[in-house]
Amino acid sequence: MSRSEELFLKAKTMIPGGVNSPVRAFKSVGGTPPFIRSGQGAHITDVDGKVYIDYVGSWGPLIVGHTHPHVVEAICRAAENGCSFGAPTEAEITLAERIIERFPGMEMVRLVNSGTEAVMSAIRLARAATGRDVLVKFEGCYHGHADGLLVAAGSGLATFGVPTSPGITRAAARDTLVLPFNDLTAVETLWAERGNEIAAVIVEPVAGNMGCVLPLPGFLEGLRNVCDTHGSLLIFDEVMTGLRVDRGGAQTLYNIRPDLTTLGKIIGGGLPVGAYGGPAKWMEMIAPAGPVYQAGTLSGNPLAVAAGLATLDLLDAPGAYATLAAKTRYLVKGLDQVMCANNIPCLINHVGSMFGLFFTSAQTVANFTDVSNGDINRFNLWFHGMLQEGIYLAPSAFEAGFVSLAHEETMLDQTLTMAERVAGQLRAA
Ligand SMILES: *Cc1c(COP(=O)(O)O)cnc(C)c1O
Repeated sequence: MSRSEELFLKAKTMIPGGVNSPVRAFKSVGGTPPFIRSGQGAHITDVDGKVYIDYVGSWGPLIVGHTHPHVVEAICRAAENGCSFGAPTEAEITLAERIIERFPGMEMVRLVNSGTEAVMSAIRLARAATGRDVLVKFEGCYHGHADGLLVAAGSGLATFGVPTSPGITRAAARDTLVLPFNDLTAVETLWAERGNEIAAVIVEPVAGNMGCVLPLPGFLEGLRNVCDTHGSLLIFDEVMTGLRVDRGGAQTLYNIRPDLTTLGKIIGGGLPVGAYGGPAKWMEMIAPAGPVYQAGTLSGNPLAVAAGLATLDLLDAPGAYATLAAKTRYLVKGLDQVMCANNIPCLINHVGSMFGLFFTSAQTVANFTDVSNGDINRFNLWFHGMLQEGIYLAPSAFEAGFVSLAHEETMLDQTLTMAERVAGQLRAA
């Protein structure tokens, strides 16, 4: 038995499913997840000593790679001065400044401890700002695990949402309506019927929690328009895309200004962080400036803020985003050629340094149905084949891959060599 197998058995006796977040358990691909001992640049090493090229990057935060000396030093220096005070610190202002300067939709920002928390708080604010209850979300978009967001579409348009997890009340689900991603007709129909009840629509402007699904031309503009017409707020959940697809997130890349923005992942440089922000007229409704309550013992934590600032430094190096995009294009083009050469129907979406590979013969993958129509069984074979060859991809056909600044060309080439080998096995299977 490998050390990872031993640890997984032991973990399962004490931690539900052996993990502290479900997708880590490899449930959808099967098998035992490697327990990770350390990371360095684009590599991670498991407890059995096996080394992998990592395309998960802790699910997004590690855009500069693991244990970058600049980030590690910043965390150590912060720790020497104190891990937490529950009192304001100067570095929080610096991080706020550097976030606001990047995101056109943010005049003010509040730091929290996770993406989930950022989204919950932004939705509370949107409801307070509009005096309305209804939230609209899109199928396949993930916005954290708050009650009102673990909801699927009821039968038929404009019906109540239904809980997707036990433990969520019908009342919590009822105020969330779910539409298909990229379906502007469904959006316009819903707003025509119920626009005056809708507090906000929340969207991943590039969906990164069903692989990588780009907005069709006009989709984000259409959301902006219905919100403007009907007085609903547009929330861009940029927890994944913020600082990933562009320096100023998808809102900069596609030039659409949301009313509220949620961030997380990269802005904490691998430590727990979230943030939400928008125009001062809304943000000043947040306590203690205003009546909308939201708080956190560890919010603006000095270590997390230091790690975030150090990561932003590295991303501000000239050409960082162009380099990330070039590396990703190189990888995606190579993977595409490998699949083509082996007659494996495949489509790869990518933007900036995120990508999603779908085993499908469709010409586009634009929503959750398209993603679900991919060959999930083939994905699982692909995943395990690559893992065996030392390439660590996200353990689900519904997750994106991430390239970091630490992925050197030799590593991308090694990945393609291994992909060639695994594609040969897939063809034979
Ligand atoms: C990861 C993610 C979240 C949740 O963030 P946590 O820090 O895991 O709570 C919310 N929205 C999006 C788009 C995400 O990718």
